[in-house]
Amino acid sequence: MKRIKLFIIVLLIIVLSLTGCKHGKTINADALIVKNLNGLDESKINEYRIDVNLDTENMTYKGKQTVSYVNNTDIDLEDIYFHLYPNAFKSLEKAPILFNIGDEMNPSSYKPGYIEIEKVKIGDKDLQWIIDEDKDTILNIKLEKPLERGKSIDLYLEYMVKLPTTKDRFGYHDKGINLGNWYPIACVYDNNGWNLDPYYKVGDPFYSEVANYKVSITTPKEIIVAASGKIISEREDGDKKTYKIEGQLIRDFAWAASKDFVVKEKKVEDTIIKVYSINNDSKLINESLKIGENSIKIFNKIFGKYPYGWYSIVNTEFPSGMEYPGIVFISNDYFHKYLIDILEKVIVHETAHQWWYGIVGNNQVDEAWLDEGLATYSEVIYINEIQGKKEARKYYDENIKLGYEYAVHYLSENDVVNKPLSEFAGWEDYGPLVYSRAAMFIDKIKEDFGEEVLYDILNNYYNKYKFRIATTEDFITLCEEITNTSFNELINEYLNGN
Ligand SMILES: [Zn+2]
Repeated sequence: MKRIKLFIIVLLIIVLSLTGCKHGKTINADALIVKNLNGLDESKINEYRIDVNLDTENMTYKGKQTVSYVNNTDIDLEDIYFHLYPNAFKSLEKAPILFNIGDEMNPSSYKPGYIEIEKVKIGDKDLQWIIDEDKDTILNIKLEKPLERGKSIDLYLEYMVKLPTTKDRFGYHDKGINLGNWYPIACVYDNNGWNLDPYYKVGDPFYSEVANYKVSITTPKEIIVAASGKIISEREDGDKKTYKIEGQLIRDFAWAASKDFVVKEKKVEDTIIKVYSINNDSKLINESLKIGENSIKIFNKIFGKYPYGWYSIVNTEFPSGMEYPGIVFISNDYFHKYLIDILEKVIVHETAHQWWYGIVGNNQVDEAWLDEGLATYSEVIYINEIQGKKEARKYYDENIKLGYEYAVHYLSENDVVNKPLSEFAGWEDYGPLVYSRAAMFIDKIKEDFGEEVLYDILNNYYNKYKFRIATTEDFITLCEEITNTSFNELINEYLNGN
């Protein structure tokens, strides 16, 4: 009798713990899991508090957004600028649809996207703002009195956004919605002044600083939301559901929504990895989770610890892969049993961007090679750890070197790797230069100085610039310090030539 009772209790515990894990109720993590903020004073970074209400009938959302904006520049500011990326989708010919492919490129079925700013206020006071017709992805807010250096203000914005019909970073498709670059985000003021770049069609034309986020997303209740940051709560109210999400020291905030998402999660070294998939193939979902787990473990070990408690891999309608802080979009096209190698490569690449672009930021408009070269070479590092040196060399030769050598015949003689997005013709020169050639530069460092020195450089680069913005000069200076060698020749060979 006793025995049976004990047996039943044990069985009950096992069943409860198993079902608990399955529904994700038993695992949790903070938004930020590291104590070392790399010297950042959290009171000096911007905070975004956004309430967004998604209407899936009309494919619109309303946003109410307060930004506690800190003037970290060396001047008193009379204007503050924000990017309005949704306006890039106003017309099909101008829309930054990746690689100009996909059925959304059909002019007769394209429905445009845009953002309408309805209010800009400080307290009760309405502010003036300007959106130039020919630069409509930039919002210029006129302050009534200058914002002094070191001081902050609470700007309040209200807006309405219409989603376009694109299977891209921003837009909706049959199975859900991708919401990258969906809200007004502050432009960066750096040594060159304000960066007011448009949403270029080539590259990832984004440049931003880390901020704290408190985002409340209300959707129809059948919708499942994947997002940057930590999901604090999910509350149903009638036919609606509200998600409260927090992000700490993240460079941007993206999300995706679908009623079809199948969700699976696992805790790996203090971080909860979640896979959200529009495709209910448990083998591929498990595979994606495993690739995410391996990537986080390897990059934690070699580059430095991923500082966030949450990481989401979203399988959605998308042409390739795209990184945002704490969340990546992965094409459903790769969710196929014969394409696991590509699925792996893309998840690894986008996960590496969490370190290169996300945690260590860079100006992706002016110096795209810096994060793309490192993310591409991180694929080789991953293969080296999982499959060994021989396979890593084979992967490098076939996926990086060969691609560049094939393309080099089509590149003009003065094509250089390190140049702004506006100077690339399109993906056909951007790809071989910014991904492949830049990764060949990183490989050259390994060939010349050894694996240990390269890892030392990457680890130091990560720790020195995490949560901050690094430049090509910063990276090269660090390489020269660690190797005690001038990099002038290497720069000329790899970055300023082809
Ligand atoms: Zn990339």
